[in-house]
Amino acid sequence: MTTDTGPLLPALPAAVRSLLDDLRGAGQAAYLVGGSLRDSLLGRVPSDWDLTTDARPERIQAIFPGSLYENRFGTVVVRRDGVACEITTFRRDFASPDHRHPERVEFGETIDEDLARRDFTVNAMAWGGPPAGEPAFVDMFGGRADLERRLLRAVGDPDARFEEDALRMVRAVRLAATLGFAIEAATLAAIGRNAALARFLSGERIAAELERLLAAPAPSAGLRLLGETGLLAVIAPELARQPGIPQGKKGVSDLWEHTLRTVDAVPAGRRSLRLAALVHDIGKPSTFADGHFHHHDVEGARLAAEWLGALHFPRAVVERVAHLVRHHMFAYEPRWTDASVRRLIRRVGPAAVEDLIALREADNVGSGLAPDAGHLAELRARCAGQLAARVALGRGDLALDGHDLMAALDLEPGPRLGWLLDALTERVVAEPALNERERLLETARAILAEEG
Ligand code: ATP
Ligand code: MG
Repeated sequence: MTTDTGPLLPALPAAVRSLLDDLRGAGQAAYLVGGSLRDSLLGRVPSDWDLTTDARPERIQAIFPGSLYENRFGTVVVRRDGVACEITTFRRDFASPDHRHPERVEFGETIDEDLARRDFTVNAMAWGGPPAGEPAFVDMFGGRADLERRLLRAVGDPDARFEEDALRMVRAVRLAATLGFAIEAATLAAIGRNAALARFLSGERIAAELERLLAAPAPSAGLRLLGETGLLAVIAPELARQPGIPQGKKGVSDLWEHTLRTVDAVPAGRRSLRLAALVHDIGKPSTFADGHFHHHDVEGARLAAEWLGALHFPRAVVERVAHLVRHHMFAYEPRWTDASVRRLIRRVGPAAVEDLIALREADNVGSGLAPDAGHLAELRARCAGQLAARVALGRGDLALDGHDLMAALDLEPGPRLGWLLDALTERVVAEPALNERERLLETARAILAEEG
């Protein structure tokens, strides 16, 4: 079925339109396709622009000199007026014995074949045409109607499609959360039947979808779907233990509900903080005994690092998130001295303070409390005050270093020197005025004398 839809795509950038026209002008069929067409029809700004064409990659490169051929995906990337466009030759589906997306690319001959191998009806529409004539709309699977009903429906037999590529199940959940769509009943039931196939997916592909899911306005919708379909038990077994664990929090039914609310309470732009919120209590199920969670922050940091590491999140993200989980149980009180505030900053690191407070704010909301319960606004202001005063918080901030100590006190390099530097740092954190060379040497002598 094809219809003229020029006015339906008012948001199409002129650069993308001109690339489409150039391909067709060069004698090729070309279409706007996939998520970028879907998002344009929804009035959303697409995250990327995708065109598909009957031209082979070499031919696309000849039409657009200077374009970049990404061989692994058979995609040519063309930039025009600051807009990057991914141009992909028609493909066709072929059976994948291991439930993963095939790494091999098999080119197809027609737009119909290309659309038929796509995952959901709203992702399987195209707008464009053969070289001659006005661009037209191609919708073989009822994508427009599903778009209006805000439904994700598998193209073809859902069981077969999920068997071919298990990632499609995770994509359905992720797209449901990011677009605010429901998953059509038969498609949803098929995810429930095939969830176990997600065990064949690589950590990287799961992580990429999880990151996009966590960027949704309210990720809880998607996380709930992961739980209900059984996907969560496969891709995040420790989190799947959370439903039913009691929390003793007002109006929050169980630990999983608390986690979901905490994630939603983190602003969407703060990506690793959303991830930290998702795993902040990951240590609770395994440490739960006699109504208490014993050192769940320590166990949680370990489990979070293990899980995110297995999903191949970047090392820096894994460490940052595990660090936040490890330290999220601090208990601030207004009677803290400035030295106590500095000790907190020293313990968690100046760079993590703001994230830690923001995580606790979300944790509060997830517990049915006001965001700044526990005087968090005051703590934030006091931390900012200390950081602005540029007081010493670590060894590197001391007014002398190990060489100075060795020379002045006739010490040898070694663990004792490190211990002394740490002891001096502790003193300076308690009393910033000590951070002068002479006073530090004096203090160092006193510490050594005390030690005997
Ligand atoms: P986003 O807005 O996040 O980019 P998207 O739907 O565009 O969402 P992409 O990963 O950019 O997601 O994929 C582009 C298009 O490729 C999809 O719209 C869909 O048509 C097709 N596609 C992607 N992954 C699959 C898959 N695993 N199986 C079938 N088709 C897929
Ligand atoms: Mg896309």
